[in-house]
Amino acid sequence: MTARIREFLRNRRDDGPCMVLDLDVVRDNYHAFAHALPDTRVFYAVKANPAPEVLALLASLGSCFDTASVAEIEMALAAGATPDRVSFGNTIKKERDIARAFELGVRLFAVDCKAEVEKVARAAPGAQVFCRILCDGAGAEWPLSRKFGCVPEMATDVLEHAHRLGLEAYGVSFHVGSQQRNTGAWDQALASASAIFRECAERGIHLRMVNLGGGFPTKYLKKVPEVESYGEAIFRSLSRHFGNRMPETIIEPGRGMVGNAGVIESEVVLISRKSEEDEVRWVYLDIGKFGGLAETMDEAIRYPIRTRHDGGPKTPCVLAGPTCDSADVMYEKEPYLLPVSLQIGDKVLIEGTGAYTTTYSAVAFNGFPPLRSYVI
Ligand SMILES: *Cc1c(COP(=O)(O)O)cnc(C)c1O
Repeated sequence: MTARIREFLRNRRDDGPCMVLDLDVVRDNYHAFAHALPDTRVFYAVKANPAPEVLALLASLGSCFDTASVAEIEMALAAGATPDRVSFGNTIKKERDIARAFELGVRLFAVDCKAEVEKVARAAPGAQVFCRILCDGAGAEWPLSRKFGCVPEMATDVLEHAHRLGLEAYGVSFHVGSQQRNTGAWDQALASASAIFRECAERGIHLRMVNLGGGFPTKYLKKVPEVESYGEAIFRSLSRHFGNRMPETIIEPGRGMVGNAGVIESEVVLISRKSEEDEVRWVYLDIGKFGGLAETMDEAIRYPIRTRHDGGPKTPCVLAGPTCDSADVMYEKEPYLLPVSLQIGDKVLIEGTGAYTTTYSAVAFNGFPPLRSYVI
């Protein structure tokens, strides 16, 4: 919570929840990444927060952009990025979207199977491709499952197929899982990547790039390592597995770039109990899973919540959103400690909400408007 955000909220007059994001924090985060991983190009993962002000700031600082759709590519270009600074990093693309990206000048595409390689070869002839490999996501609070990537043993064939079809087999990518609190999580994937580099070289294909993905955490309730520790651990693993043949590297931070730059202000709508004897209070906010806090799914991300009663005694509460949907309960399995003196009508601040909030907010579910966003 920065002084600028506090000042903004003091003067705010409109009603309803909102997310306020401080660009100074994004600038600091960008410099921290650039400093911790000095020989690595930064591709900001646009999906984390595509606010035009965020993209324009990052473009002016020299960032590149990892995009998931043609609309995100257009946003990055509108913010001032040139197409050589844009990667189409989604492994699931319609062929006509690949063609549109190619028309816009994008030359870097992610693939994880031969069918996707064939689409890229037809719609973006001669482009660079990198093959995404599966990563188990252990140690991540928001793991990315098996949806993206192929087993490392298959990647060489996928890249060779690309090479045969006239594409440039450029490298390997992976994502160690979002909110990854283990700085060593990159090691296993880098071992696999170096094996793929060797196998490709044996087939006469010289890969050049390793895309280290995102996963860098933001601070919620638990402590997380500093970005320098990630940089050091990644550098050690790169040296261990690649020796003197260091590849080009890129990172794709999303959460770590914008998470701690944003704060949501919300209001307590109701506090109740399910029976007279019930110890646990139910606290209903004017924001929930459908209003932008989707990452509370399975209670994965636990946001810090500040109130004007902090410092006083706390009791366990179930925390829920305002919609008429029974899934709109954020913390129940592990109740959330909130001040005894919290009252209906109080404002609360939900910290670390600059990433994966505004874009997850439903458009008109139950008649609630999408989460308002202010970038200052
Ligand atoms: C979502 C995503 C990212 C960003 O991940 P964070 O954990 O938010 O840093 C990076 N790369 C790809 C391909 C992604 O899909």
